[in-house]
Amino acid sequence: MTAKTHQEKLAKYAEAIVKVGLNIRAGQRLIITLAANRGVPLQFAPLVREVARAAYEVGAKYVDVIWGDEEMLKIRARHAPKDSFDEYPTWAIQGIMNMLENGDALLSISGMDPDLLGSLDPEVIGKMQHTHLVNLEPVTKLVTTNASNWCVVAAAGRAWAQKIFPDLSPEKAQEKLWDAIFETTRIDQPDPIAAWEDHIVALRNRANYLQAKQYTGLHYKAPGTDFTLGLPNGHKWISAQSLAQNGIAFTANMPTEEVFTLPDRNRADGVISATFPLSYGGTLIEDFQVHFENGRITKVAAKKGEAALQKLVDTDEGSHRLGEVALVPASSPIGQRGHLFYNTLFDENASCHIAIGRAYRFTLTGGEELSEEEFVSAGGNTSLNHVDFMIGSPQMDIDGITKDGAREPVMRKGEWAFKA
Ligand code: ZN
Ligand code: ZN
Repeated sequence: MTAKTHQEKLAKYAEAIVKVGLNIRAGQRLIITLAANRGVPLQFAPLVREVARAAYEVGAKYVDVIWGDEEMLKIRARHAPKDSFDEYPTWAIQGIMNMLENGDALLSISGMDPDLLGSLDPEVIGKMQHTHLVNLEPVTKLVTTNASNWCVVAAAGRAWAQKIFPDLSPEKAQEKLWDAIFETTRIDQPDPIAAWEDHIVALRNRANYLQAKQYTGLHYKAPGTDFTLGLPNGHKWISAQSLAQNGIAFTANMPTEEVFTLPDRNRADGVISATFPLSYGGTLIEDFQVHFENGRITKVAAKKGEAALQKLVDTDEGSHRLGEVALVPASSPIGQRGHLFYNTLFDENASCHIAIGRAYRFTLTGGEELSEEEFVSAGGNTSLNHVDFMIGSPQMDIDGITKDGAREPVMRKGEWAFKA
């Protein structure tokens, strides 16, 4: 077999995005945005065009893109009036809402320069970020209740590639990042769609095992970590594939290696140490610990970036609490690569993680139908933020706590401790 060209791999990738990620149905429309909804930069046009082609091939009736430009963001941050940062392109939100409310598909592309905002006035960035999160809320609500089939994928942005591989030339770095994307999304395998089907089944079997166990909590033990979190009644273990409210089975993240569920917002105690740095809002937070009492963060400490971490926690009440608990073996293909991607889509699939902030409604049985108050009283968390950080390692043991208080091994030395 001859090696595929980049363009051929891109076409295979687009096909997997359309068929496995979104699972677009004939007659659906598709809107493509940048993850975080700032508009897709033109450097990602080759991927966007392949996705459009693949989507029409399976019967999509209309595909559109919200284009954007990273430089425009910088220009605004530097030159717009200081009191203007509550301005927001609400038309873009209305466009996305129009699609989602109609049961159409949403694709977000991730791959922005992780340092894009790092060099700008933190106060301006904080304000812009807040305005963005507030305006995005209606979209966030529909996405976190799986109203429609949606998917987040990555494209090898130039600046992002340079950040990961600083010793390579810009061209080589980008090529290497594309290789990493194709490898971790199984596009380098002879039949990527079949490989995804196998992977989805394997993850589903893990989720089903944990679902049947109905653990009331998990206990984590590792160097610098002695931590217990509660799992509320009705928590639902989720893996790669989900069913949207429009009836379409879709895979929200490519790559994905995690099995995850809802932690109880009121039950988390002890101290947990991060095992990877956290890239947040252009700042790298390194070597950090988070202390919990009765579900609430009482103290954070970091060797680097402590102020940024504290700021994240102080966003609102919900950002003092947990919204996701995810299990990923240390031997995951992304963990094995042994380097940081400075991008949650990849880094969260390298290791076990938890998220500060908003919980996904679909991680609670019937959670989509509850009011916000009902969701919170069932143990779910709400916040403007949802930020994952990595806690797993080959030194970590995790026990499941049964209803009668017994402990069963879930992970040993960072690997699954049960057969599924
Ligand atoms: Zn996760
Ligand atoms: Zn998450």
